[in-house]
Amino acid sequence: MPKAKQIGGNALTNLAGVGPAVAAKLARLHVHTISDVLFHLPHRYEDRTAVTELGALLDGHSVVVVGEIEVAQVVFGRRRSLLVKISDGTGFLTLRLFHFSRAQEKSFRRGHWVRCFGAARRGIKGYEMVHPEYRVFPERPVGGLDKTLTPIYPTTEGVSQLLWRKITDQALKQGLPNVSEFLQIEVLPEKLRKSLQEVELSDALLSLHRPNSGIDLAAMAEARSAAHQRLIFEELLAHHFSLRKARELRNNDQAPKLAKPTDLIAQFEAQLPFQLTGAQQRVSEELSVDLDKNIPMMRLVQGDVGSGKTVVAANAMLHAVEAKVQSVLMAPTELLAEQHYATLTAWFTTLGIEVGWLASKTPAAEKRATLEKLASGELLIAVGTHALIQESVSYRQLGFVVIDEQHRFGVDQRLALRDKTPAGVVPHQMVMTATPIPRTLAMSFYADLDVSNIDELPPGRTPVETVVMAADSKRQAVIERVREACKQGKQVYWVCPLIDESEALTAQAATDTERELSEQLFGLNVGLVHGRLKPKEKEAAMSDFRKGQTHLLVATTVIEVGVDVPNASLMVIENAERMGLAQLHQLRGRVGRGSEQSYCILLYQTPLGEHAKQRLKILRETNDGFVIAEQDLAMRGAGELLGTRQTGSLSFKIADIIRDQALLPDLAASATTMSRVCPQNIEPLIQRWVGSREAYVNA
Ligand code: ADP
Ligand code: MG
Repeated sequence: MPKAKQIGGNALTNLAGVGPAVAAKLARLHVHTISDVLFHLPHRYEDRTAVTELGALLDGHSVVVVGEIEVAQVVFGRRRSLLVKISDGTGFLTLRLFHFSRAQEKSFRRGHWVRCFGAARRGIKGYEMVHPEYRVFPERPVGGLDKTLTPIYPTTEGVSQLLWRKITDQALKQGLPNVSEFLQIEVLPEKLRKSLQEVELSDALLSLHRPNSGIDLAAMAEARSAAHQRLIFEELLAHHFSLRKARELRNNDQAPKLAKPTDLIAQFEAQLPFQLTGAQQRVSEELSVDLDKNIPMMRLVQGDVGSGKTVVAANAMLHAVEAKVQSVLMAPTELLAEQHYATLTAWFTTLGIEVGWLASKTPAAEKRATLEKLASGELLIAVGTHALIQESVSYRQLGFVVIDEQHRFGVDQRLALRDKTPAGVVPHQMVMTATPIPRTLAMSFYADLDVSNIDELPPGRTPVETVVMAADSKRQAVIERVREACKQGKQVYWVCPLIDESEALTAQAATDTERELSEQLFGLNVGLVHGRLKPKEKEAAMSDFRKGQTHLLVATTVIEVGVDVPNASLMVIENAERMGLAQLHQLRGRVGRGSEQSYCILLYQTPLGEHAKQRLKILRETNDGFVIAEQDLAMRGAGELLGTRQTGSLSFKIADIIRDQALLPDLAASATTMSRVCPQNIEPLIQRWVGSREAYVNA
């Protein structure tokens, strides 16, 4: 939606080449004004300023190369392609074209030269470039190179790099002279002051949009230039303020004060078959303190898989029960929600507390009954999926919401919560996750959340032993091992990965695997659970497995979160190389829940890439969710780790919280200084970098 301030000289449509259609596309990138264009910065640069020798190519690097054509031929492999082999005396390179005309084919004459730009990839027969930009010359070409780095802008369909250059050219001319400096020198951390003083804001912007010739290329590529550092710091600070603001806004909201129900909790804990661990008690106490306030709680409870988060949530929900206020427990999948429902029902029924159930596939009549009880307030507790916060659901007084496995919930869903309560009243929220957020990030970017850690596992758990094996050579041996384990009365999970993001293909693959294993493991009962099953079928499969009636459960990653069958002590994960670290750790957490030594076998398809090898190695070496999260972060960047918060809100224009983490510890002090010396600049700073994205403010 275009912002109202699209008026006067700052309107995008003042730029040549930007009509209403392009403006609408730019709006998708949150670019609404000429000032926004200035802060829409290139996310990388292409270096067409120098020729790279073929002997010095690096995998994945995009470079300009020049070479003499040795041979060009059409080959008929899996796909017809034109291969052109070139050399320059230092090495060889093959250009590969899948789409080509007869004329193109003929233009690659032996002895002629080509100059091309593209990404070099190492293949089995040396380096290749697929569909490079190229030009053929009768002789070795000289010159013709760019003088400066080519900026590449983040973009959206229908806005080409060429158009971006046109738009930014104009914005730099018209807008740059008016750009205001919001940071005063004392706001900057000591260590940045000197170099940042040398580069004015407008110069910094100019040098990122249009790098000078003679600029330090490596510094540009690694964002170390003074221009980068100044803008990165500004952006980080803007996000920091934005989160503070979110927190302040929340503090203006009202939540019901829920005092600790000492007797009820004592009754509840007395009937549990175990004692709470020290960590569970401590976190329960932290929750009690928060709930006993009018300010809406927003607490993240982190605890490794199996640390016992559910009982802590149940404990907290009793605060609402005592106050006759409603509370809900929401899970990202129906399977997990069902399991929570079974757990809470078992725990609460003896206390005389009814637990309601709501999921999208709940039969209409049953649903209607539940909805009525929620509206009247007769039902104080409900468990379910996001169906719990859909429009058709109304509550008498929703006071507390527990969200399990937060990374699956989007900001939108969090926002939907607000519509469930009268204006200005917000339920307390507790978010549980087994994917801990590393400390540096938590401090800077979860400034709006309080964090509790359940940093202790219940006693008697033995760490899962993990082995990594090549599927080609070891699959048969693994099947034998499964047979052995089942014969000894143990239960086994066999996990099939997501295929091509398609639930249908994935379900099919799991079904095929189930058939194959049933045949090979004749005499054993093999169950199957995947996302395409009807809820009843899914529940039946899970219940058979829980009761020990099936020995082996073939499953897709639907069992990733929460499923709890203590007798399962072996897990086989196929195509483990395709999964992320956090996901594998989650999956593995399904075993090792009983007193038996448990094992996890990670099967991979060869050849194994370097990153995948590294991931599997980390899993083999540690069971500690925190270590894994740190490694995960180091390996793939913050984006995925932050999950929905990233896509919903935390998207940076230029900063990268992994790369730039050295700056994070300085943010709090700078923010305090800024609030003192130039508080009037805070809001404009947030607007500049974060914009008025509602989701962010309310997240
Ligand atoms: P997660 O943190 O992964 O959600 P759960 O809440 O599912 O963990 O708990 C895992 C298992 O540990 C459950 O079977 C639960 O009943 C059990 N459990 C939880 N707390 C304790 C405890 N203090 N002592 C023994 N077992 C516990
Ligand atoms: Mg859980």
